[in-house]
Amino acid sequence: MSSTSEDRVRIGRYLARTRAEGPGERTAVWVQGCTIHCAGCFNPHLWTFRGGAEWTATDLLARVLAEETDGLTLLGGEPFDHAAPLAAVAAGVRDAGRSVMTFSGYTTAQLDAAVRGGRTGVAALLAATDLLIAGPFVAGLVDRARPWAGSTNQEFVPLSDRFPDLLAAARSTPDRLEITVAADGLVSVNGWADDDTLDALLHDLGRRTVSPAP
Ligand code: SF4
Repeated sequence: MSSTSEDRVRIGRYLARTRAEGPGERTAVWVQGCTIHCAGCFNPHLWTFRGGAEWTATDLLARVLAEETDGLTLLGGEPFDHAAPLAAVAAGVRDAGRSVMTFSGYTTAQLDAAVRGGRTGVAALLAATDLLIAGPFVAGLVDRARPWAGSTNQEFVPLSDRFPDLLAAARSTPDRLEITVAADGLVSVNGWADDDTLDALLHDLGRRTVSPAP
């Protein structure tokens, strides 16, 4: 589990509002950097800790709060490789009465071990998360039933009772794929779909940016 700056975090992608990364309308942040390297990962461009843009936790929190969405979803990259600054952002989002969902390629056992080992940033991000989706992506276990999860081994773990309907909403929300075509013709995709489905959908659209997998 990597350790990054306490107050700065590299962001690979920022989406002000989406309905494809959790219940309701949410702000989604993909961090830049992941040490897990799951075989078949959809976001290998987010493995490196270089690239993206560096934000202070204070600036990122202010930007997220200004969006006035239902909550924040943290994806990657690996959020727990950037735990300390994201914990500050997540805590601020919850202080504003909004929910936090965090995706991780680490298992709950690995996260618990990190907390027992004194990783205060990991503990703080877990404490500021309402719904955790935990576990590595396993290409042989693709999940075609649940929303957002990439593979069936990944666990949905409620970590607070502040949003009692969040898990139910998660389970009852259909999987979505959002496709945005910018004025310059750049096609951006978020949500989850396998490569064959994406290729079929985007066949006539040219370039694509894909940020689907936890
Ligand atoms: S699926 Fe997530 S945890 Fe796994 S390598 Fe990709 S970004 Fe990292």
